[in-house]
Amino acid sequence: MFEVQNQPPPLEPYNVFASDATLREAVRREGASWAEGELTELGARLGKPETVQLGFDANKFPPQLRTLDRYGHRLDEVEFHPGWHQLLEIALGAGLHSSPWANPKPGAHVARAAGTYMLGQIESGVYCPLAMTYGSVPTLRHAPQIANEWLPRIYSREYDRRFRPARLKTSALVGMGMTENQGGSDLRSNTTRAQPSADGSFRLYGHKWFMSAPMCDAFLVLAQAPNGLSCFLMPRWTPDGERNAILILRLKDKLGNRSNASSEVEFHGAYAQPVGEEGRGIPTIIEMGNYTRLDCCIGSSALMRQAVVQAVHHARHRIAFQKKLVDQPLMTNVLADLAIESEAAAVLTMWLARAYDENNEAALAIRRIVTPAAKFWICKRTPFLTYEAMEVLGGSGYIEESIMPRLYREAPVNSIWEGSGNIMCLDVLRALERTPNAAEVLRHEFGEAKNARIKTFAERIEKRLAAHDHADESQARALVRDLIVALQGSLLARHSPSNVSDAFCASRLDGEGTSAFGLLPRGLDARGIAERAGPAN
Ligand SMILES: Cc1cc2nc3c(=O)[nH]c(=O)nc-3n(C[C@H](O)[C@H](O)[C@H](O)COP(=O)(O)OP(=O)(O)OC[C@H]3O[C@@H](n4cnc5c(N)ncnc54)[C@H](O)[C@@H]3O)c2cc1C
Repeated sequence: MFEVQNQPPPLEPYNVFASDATLREAVRREGASWAEGELTELGARLGKPETVQLGFDANKFPPQLRTLDRYGHRLDEVEFHPGWHQLLEIALGAGLHSSPWANPKPGAHVARAAGTYMLGQIESGVYCPLAMTYGSVPTLRHAPQIANEWLPRIYSREYDRRFRPARLKTSALVGMGMTENQGGSDLRSNTTRAQPSADGSFRLYGHKWFMSAPMCDAFLVLAQAPNGLSCFLMPRWTPDGERNAILILRLKDKLGNRSNASSEVEFHGAYAQPVGEEGRGIPTIIEMGNYTRLDCCIGSSALMRQAVVQAVHHARHRIAFQKKLVDQPLMTNVLADLAIESEAAAVLTMWLARAYDENNEAALAIRRIVTPAAKFWICKRTPFLTYEAMEVLGGSGYIEESIMPRLYREAPVNSIWEGSGNIMCLDVLRALERTPNAAEVLRHEFGEAKNARIKTFAERIEKRLAAHDHADESQARALVRDLIVALQGSLLARHSPSNVSDAFCASRLDGEGTSAFGLLPRGLDARGIAERAGPAN
């Protein structure tokens, strides 16, 4: 038997919160310091080997669809590995599906963002129903009667895995069905029909090409009503206690996100109640979209953070050519470059979450413009980063027993769903056009940094805006990238240690740009940056 040598010890147990300086600082700065105790507890629980294992199990044994029982009766149920349910128990126990609505207070969205950021590092599939449930609340409030009935269940922290009518359960989760086979970006092409019944409810006929987490207790769904495309709440069970006519045709065989089920469904006269004004389905459901897009930023930042933690941990212990990898100058450069990308994503995301805690004019403009912009750029950076971090572990990074392949497979999904990259950039153009104070709010944020490089970069953006780039769709990605990189630079310059912000500005605002990691110029404190990013030893 060979002796195992030169292998790092397992990272876990570690405290996902206490070991993350960037996150702790952001929680304090963005108004959620009251949550530090709870977040420290959650961080300890998530970083336990047993919890980490739940994520591996839930992905190794993906959900199974049961369409019929042994006699041929319809079931349309999905079975999950117990690890999936245990992770949801932890998540609901921490209020990650609804705490800012159940207990509104300053910093509530930031505190929840910090919790989901930690959960997403350990397992991202369960994030899907949590994000949709969180996002559903403002939309459900458009229908006070439905809200009265459903919100208490949604606010409950007692996860209930049983498949039965929601009124018989301790809690409820809500999913979403918008995308149809013929078009997901252009929702006006939806063909599902909604026929009114005498009691004010509707019967839905049609399909959805993607409907994730189909074991949720209800779904916000778009369908064509007599007065146009409208939003509905469709429960899994009818008020009479029958299974609703939602047929699950199959589960998608996905690249990643494998612990979670994403289904194709048909509605055969499924019972649903209207939410919001008939004919205004898109604006009604888009309110949910803002929150789920924020969650895409959180989820992708979480993937980046976990990839960086694993990479730095490995490099601190693995020796090659008589030196620890973390001390090999070229590896130090790669690690530092990964670390500043991850920190920039986290700092921006937590700052954006704060805008959801505030209701002043600037916060509303930030939500409207920065949410789609940040979703575009953060989600675009995640696959590159997870791939490069995987390489830090060498061959072992390519092996399933490390979490790296799972992070890598998960990395593209947040960019595709809830509005793909181009759709986000076009949305930013619309937001710039329609938000009267957009330019001032952004100018103010860039100017706050009092940093010459950011000032020069911001002038470039001003020129783009003045040159009507905001009306030129072909330039939308370039404009949005510049907006976000300038914002990230400005936030890091104000709030992060100077070695981090100097490296970010030197590499992202001028220099080699972002074509590959490990291109940081000489003269930066790469070793110090890598050290800050690692888990506390
Ligand atoms: C794992 C997973 C889970 C999902 N879960 C759900 C769910 O629970 N509920 C749900 O409703 N949907 C869900 N979706 C669907 C997802 O939201 C859609 O796939 C997405 O919105 C894109 O729609 P589409 O697939 O029809 O692509 P299309 O609309 O055909 O778009 C294809 C490409 O064209 C681009 N494009 C479109 N219009 C333009 C334009 N005008 N200019 C430039 N480019 C353009 C898009 O950005 C995209 O890159 C899920 C998807 C995935 C992968």
